[in-house]
Amino acid sequence: MTVDKRICPTCHQSSSHFLDWLYSGLNASVFNYTAQFCHCPSCGLIYVDNIDDEQLAHFYADECSYSEKAHFDITSPANIAKYTCYRDVMTNYGLANVQVTDVGCGRGGFLLWLNANGWQADGHGVDVDIKSMPNSEIQQKDDGYVVQFQQGGALSLPYAEDSQQLLTYFHVFEHIRDIDAVLNEAHRVLESGGHILIEVPDAEHYSKQPVGSAFWIGIREHIYHFSAQALIAALNRHGFNVISVRRDMLPTPEFDYPSLMVLAKKGGVNTDLDCESGDDIATFVVSSQQALLKQAEQITLLVQHHSALTFWGCSAELFSLLPLLGDLDFALCDASVPKQQSRYKGRPIQDPSQIKPEGILVVAPYLHSDVIEQTALSLGWPQQLIYRLT
Ligand SMILES: [Zn+2]
Repeated sequence: MTVDKRICPTCHQSSSHFLDWLYSGLNASVFNYTAQFCHCPSCGLIYVDNIDDEQLAHFYADECSYSEKAHFDITSPANIAKYTCYRDVMTNYGLANVQVTDVGCGRGGFLLWLNANGWQADGHGVDVDIKSMPNSEIQQKDDGYVVQFQQGGALSLPYAEDSQQLLTYFHVFEHIRDIDAVLNEAHRVLESGGHILIEVPDAEHYSKQPVGSAFWIGIREHIYHFSAQALIAALNRHGFNVISVRRDMLPTPEFDYPSLMVLAKKGGVNTDLDCESGDDIATFVVSSQQALLKQAEQITLLVQHHSALTFWGCSAELFSLLPLLGDLDFALCDASVPKQQSRYKGRPIQDPSQIKPEGILVVAPYLHSDVIEQTALSLGWPQQLIYRLT
């Protein structure tokens, strides 16, 4: 018998493989694979073991469409409310008006908002996703403080040793496999006593946002599902003193999400921090998969009595469902023109208005299902033949 022995990437205790999740994607997606989910009983971390940062870099360079999504609109009131929360965490811990370096800055919304709202220090933004980053390298306002953007990743920051005061990583850590390398790099560029503020989705409270049964685990580029203990353990191993662990529901333009924010300081290790844990993440992953399997089973049964099966909406949740359908025959459609130029395992992605309304229609995306259903009804799909993934 072979014993499954792996090392937890955050706390370095033993972890083990506990579940396979079949992902898929358009064209030659890096996510056409079976993800091996691993679990660490010591810190509660869940992670995908069999993908590396080189493969993930291909996703961000070639497949990722964050730059087009309204979700990341930097003028949206929901995102501004979120920036306000980030700023309040910083000021509450004595970090008002320190120079901020936002790693994975995306469209630069947080830094530009700080700069426009009286923050008395410069801002630096780096991201690997150059499609998202602001075109102009420098934005300046009357008081002389500037925001600079440059291409760069968390694994190789374009800064000298001991040069940074505060590094922020909002929704970055769940995307990068080599956590040790990220934290080594943060430690290198931070000055002594400098701070690191990390935010990730709060996996121990995924159940507080019941968007759909496979929503959280269906996000294929989230290869880490952190417990608070996992993040604390990783920070402590790298010489960071954890000052605060904060849990909130935070807004986005589309939905509220459970947020886990950890603030730490370079130097010393605090082992006294009191931190409540939440739900068991492994149990959540298993129940997500069971719900998806049940829906695959229901669709398979429905189709036995109908002439055709069509899926509407090339969503992350669909890409976790389709591999569970075996060799079932189906058509795919999506209103997005770029998606209509793609293929899914050889199948065309059709224009929904060109599909004859016959057989079963499965509305796949959780977040846009109302709009899709209304459009489908107007195109002649009968209500009783529309099945929504939940
Ligand atoms: Zn662990």
